[in-house]
Amino acid sequence: MINSMSVIPILETWFLENKRSFPWRENKNPYRVWISEVMLQQTRASVVVPYFERWMQLFPNVKALYNASLDQVIKAWEGLGYYSRARNLHAAATEIVERFSGSIPSSYAELMSIRGFGPYTAGAVLNFGFHKKAIAIDGNVLRVISRYFLIEERVDRTSARRLIEDKVDSLLKGDRPWVVTEALIELGATVCLPKPRCEMCPLQESCLARKMNKAELLPLKKIKEKTIQLFRFVMIFEHEGHVLVQRRGQNEVMADLYEFPYIEVDRFPIRLKKMKDLAKRFLSEEVGSYKKLEGVSHSFTRYKAHLLPCLFQLKRFAQVPSFEWVSIENLVSLPFSSGHRYILKSLGYYHKKQDE
Ligand code: SF4
Repeated sequence: MINSMSVIPILETWFLENKRSFPWRENKNPYRVWISEVMLQQTRASVVVPYFERWMQLFPNVKALYNASLDQVIKAWEGLGYYSRARNLHAAATEIVERFSGSIPSSYAELMSIRGFGPYTAGAVLNFGFHKKAIAIDGNVLRVISRYFLIEERVDRTSARRLIEDKVDSLLKGDRPWVVTEALIELGATVCLPKPRCEMCPLQESCLARKMNKAELLPLKKIKEKTIQLFRFVMIFEHEGHVLVQRRGQNEVMADLYEFPYIEVDRFPIRLKKMKDLAKRFLSEEVGSYKKLEGVSHSFTRYKAHLLPCLFQLKRFAQVPSFEWVSIENLVSLPFSSGHRYILKSLGYYHKKQDE
């Protein structure tokens, strides 16, 4: 039987001695905590650092985020993926200004009433932004707790979630629960990794999964759905310094992001002649000279999209419903979905803008 109270000082001491230095751990306030936690749900902390610093320069507080346009916010998020989070941040800033006079509220119920706040984000903001006791369970905490207490039930089940919450709660009974919460997150991010480094762990003496040699088997998860492969022929139509693009609609996967026109095909490779035929059919007119570009792959939700781009020089501004011609100068400041942004960069348009 584990005595949770004895674990608390071990976690606190370990964290204070071993925590990594990140910009969001300095000058903490609820806004900085909120933004960093949402970004950290996207990717690794080291990747988040430049995004966070740029975001704080552009939108240093809730008011600045509220005053920004949605396009500016999505552009600042570009590259982090899962853009609904950026849209939610913008919408939440509006709610915070209009419903809470611009101050992030300090109660769980009020935070949860704001768009985009889930139990983890609300818990993290209360812990690190307000120094209040609150349960905040991310993937790191889930891993540490399920191993340390040897929870051998699938963690997507409600009963397992409740058990994990109870175990976390039992560790938050000290004077500084926010330190313990951050220690659990840090431990999961640096030591109790999917391949655990138990020999470096402050909990190794009492960890049940380590004792039973089951650490690598936990946490138990649902079997992942198979990834679906997509093959997309991407057409970059250029004419007199303008390019044909489309802003994806609100209810589409890449909502509010720009993309070049593309056609789904069964597989790659495609012959150049076929590329020309596909482009001609898309435009309903002849295309001029064309050049195949380097392919790129990117993943989103359960899909992996393979993009094969081809640059076409047109002789006039062809009109295609729901597409628009945008000057190259303006193109580079628009938010693009990740695969198409990579294509945009490979076209050298960014350099063209800098040269001007
Ligand atoms: S001893 Fe190993 S399995 Fe247990 S909490 Fe530490 S790193 Fe994770």
